[in-house]
Amino acid sequence: MGLARCLRKVERTEKYAGDMSTYATIVHVDMDAFYASVAERDDPTLRGKALVVGAGARGVVLSANYEARKFGIRAAMPVGRAQRMAPHAIFVPPNHARYSEVSDAIMKIFADFTPLVEPLSLDEAFLDVTGARRLLGTGREIGTEIRKRVFEQEGITCSVGIAPSKFIAKLASGHCKPNGLLEIAPDRILTFLHPLPVSALWGVGPKTAETLEQLGLRTVEDVANLPRATLIRAIGQAAGETLHELAWGRDFRDVTPEDVDKSISAAETFAHDLDNPEEILQEFLRLTQKATARLRDKGLFAKTISIKVRFADFTTINRSKTLPLATDSAHEAYEVVKDLYTALRIERARLRLVGVSLENLVSAAPEQMVLGARDKGWRDAERAIDRARARFGRLSVRPGRLIENSEDEIDE
Ligand SMILES: [Mg+2]
Repeated sequence: MGLARCLRKVERTEKYAGDMSTYATIVHVDMDAFYASVAERDDPTLRGKALVVGAGARGVVLSANYEARKFGIRAAMPVGRAQRMAPHAIFVPPNHARYSEVSDAIMKIFADFTPLVEPLSLDEAFLDVTGARRLLGTGREIGTEIRKRVFEQEGITCSVGIAPSKFIAKLASGHCKPNGLLEIAPDRILTFLHPLPVSALWGVGPKTAETLEQLGLRTVEDVANLPRATLIRAIGQAAGETLHELAWGRDFRDVTPEDVDKSISAAETFAHDLDNPEEILQEFLRLTQKATARLRDKGLFAKTISIKVRFADFTTINRSKTLPLATDSAHEAYEVVKDLYTALRIERARLRLVGVSLENLVSAAPEQMVLGARDKGWRDAERAIDRARARFGRLSVRPGRLIENSEDEIDE
């Protein structure tokens, strides 16, 4: 499942002629068969095979890749039954620590596009990109870029729905799975929504679906065309009102961001794998500067500094060090990053990605943080750089070592 396929699917995007600028742009991103995709990503020998993630023979299927789904295997099914349906499939136990690690990385990618990120689960989130359109392009361009970033950085695919509301955006991503992108323009909402089964309406579980079907309502359009009062009589005041609104595509719920500041990180996937230690260190320096600038923006200090190194074959190593005193200085953080990287002794290995993460964040420098004059000088210099960047733009101030590389941006 390569990037080429990723991009080809974009052609499924709905066309529209209306003016999108007067509407909100909500993006719903959902990883495809998340647990199974992470397992395949971590062990390339699993690729192309039917793969099921499940806890023990008596447990249930937590995730099945699309190869396994061809045999009718679905999440929540007993593992024993799945084994009978596809005896040749590979069954692996879940690795929850890995899932939350990948989830953190994905949520951080989202945060690069908008601060308005509402995670729904480890592998799924709403993004309100209305305010980001002027800088980052249309909803479709932003969605395409998110898919590209997730694939390049984490090696897994996702599906993206784009619409003026959360409800329609989520339906759209479900509709184009796997590995797709579907934008529903404002003037296409009812055309898209009305033919869907009633179970597409948010909050309609098997029980309500049964009640609606007993009333002869099979599609969303049937629900929309039923007089509101009749619907309320059948399923109650609150549910009736909500479903009536949703059936007409009306959903005004805001994307409610969650605090994603447990750590701040910056990572870079290289266009070509790198094997030159000097270039790699330069990249580490750039990422450290980027991450510490964000830290200072937020008035935070980090106690733990970690690095991530991903090899060409996707094997990934993380190393971290906790400091006696929290810091927000790029200079101090980079010294740690450099030591961590050097200690790995990975001369001439081909690297696909490096990342820097600042963790254990605290909101104030401790009083007892007595810094030497040199360190204090660095901190003051970095604050001055932040102020210049804020006033003149991000590219106005670069450290000397990066100037030669003029297409290289400090912050993307
Ligand atoms: Mg998913």
